[in-house]
Amino acid sequence: MSAETFPSSAAPCGGRRVFVAGTRHADIAVPCREVTPRGEAPLRLYDTGTARRADDPPPQRLAWLERRDDIAADMRQEGVVRQARPGRRVTQRDLARAGVVTPEMEFVAIRESLGAAEPVSPEFVRDEVARGAAIIPANLNHPEVEPMVIGRNFRVKVNANIGASGNVSGTEAEVAKMADAVAWGADTVMDLSTGPQIVATRRAILRAAPVPVGTVPLYEALQRVNGRAEDLSWEVYRDVLVAQAEQGVDYVTIHAGVLRPHLARAAHRVTGVVSRGGAIVARWCAAHRRENFLYQRFAEICDILAAFDMAVSLGDGLRPGCTADANDAAQFGELATLGELARVAAEHGVQTMIEGPGHVPMHKIAENMVRHAEACGEAPLYTLGPLVTDAAPGFDHITGAIGGAMIAAQGVSMLCVVTPKEHLGLPDRDDVRAGVTAFRIAAHAADLAKGHSAARARDDALSRARFDFRWGDQVALAIDPATAAAYRGEAADGDHHCTMCGEGFCSMRGFRAVAGAEPA
Ligand code: SF4
Repeated sequence: MSAETFPSSAAPCGGRRVFVAGTRHADIAVPCREVTPRGEAPLRLYDTGTARRADDPPPQRLAWLERRDDIAADMRQEGVVRQARPGRRVTQRDLARAGVVTPEMEFVAIRESLGAAEPVSPEFVRDEVARGAAIIPANLNHPEVEPMVIGRNFRVKVNANIGASGNVSGTEAEVAKMADAVAWGADTVMDLSTGPQIVATRRAILRAAPVPVGTVPLYEALQRVNGRAEDLSWEVYRDVLVAQAEQGVDYVTIHAGVLRPHLARAAHRVTGVVSRGGAIVARWCAAHRRENFLYQRFAEICDILAAFDMAVSLGDGLRPGCTADANDAAQFGELATLGELARVAAEHGVQTMIEGPGHVPMHKIAENMVRHAEACGEAPLYTLGPLVTDAAPGFDHITGAIGGAMIAAQGVSMLCVVTPKEHLGLPDRDDVRAGVTAFRIAAHAADLAKGHSAARARDDALSRARFDFRWGDQVALAIDPATAAAYRGEAADGDHHCTMCGEGFCSMRGFRAVAGAEPA
């Protein structure tokens, strides 16, 4: 194990950054944050990573890729492009099925073990990936990625959406947003950029991102046909998909489940189709009076994904856009199709997760989990929110985090961040921070509810620090240490009360006096 102290890392956290070495694969170094509360043993916390700088040394995954004999590397103008050698099955899912414990699997096993009472074994990770119950999104062309796992039997993950839109924002701002999102605790980012800089922005994000990067290729395909959905074709889409795979995108949302019968069922909704991808497919189907070409070409799509180990996130183009539309026939009809597609992806060895709602009131959340299990088995579910009310524009990071905590406690594997700007405008860095923090809290609360021992250990360490008036330890263990420190302000670390109740009314101080731990 090696160590470096903050603030050399961009992470706005307490403690020091340490690296845990692998045992099966000696060149593994898993970053984590180590906090040593006064009088207690060190506690290791999961660290989502630090954005890479141009002058950083080569990423550790590069060596793992270079020693593989199942992938070929071609030198192109834009750099090395790796893909499967002819006839070889190279995905983490295929390797897991073949009984291989990859460096990526050992890396995530160490990561998931941090702070836990019982270590997660690499063999357990392999088994979960082989069964399709978990995915490790890591494109062969993204050596910068520090592997992470998405699955219900692991820590709940958080994705942050970033991306320039039209004339708003730019490449530099989006890379900065990505760096912030990761520093605040995002486990993956989705680059949803549209506009003229889409390729350059994505390239810059990929080269700096230590986390998996997801996209929606349909957006770039639409741009290639000047925004005219009716001009989309399989050939245009295929070329975009291959280009993004060669660039290193780790997972792609594909709206292959938006079928015409499901669209017909959405006609009488309050807010119709609210997914960008779903709306694009709907326009194409209406213009051509034909079924969704993404559905019809899905096996060919899987061949491309498998050659680069790009995971698929089966998009919920018909997710409800308001609580009135939740759990309707259009939503669940599409979900059944996503289950069918997940089985096709499995045959091709493609790592697969399923996207979920949307806007769902609290009393309808549980049914989503039941329906997901019926349609998609154990495939990880990745949800946007869900937002539990439509009545709080400006605060949808809260409406989404409430639903996110509830559904994650019931088994959702990854939550997509909703920012306070949702429905109102493109989020800036502050909005992304507010959203990531809200969903990091939701994910942690869900881990706690699921009995995750690392979440339990962190809560207990913070509670002991609180009761002992160890303000510095409280801050270091906080999900957002910077805000906790700012609220604590200049108050002395030795204070045995805060300004909330005041010295005479501090209940913990009073109880400690009764217990003999505090002067009366
Ligand atoms: S003053 Fe009140 S809020 Fe502050 S530490 Fe004491 S009990 Fe807690």
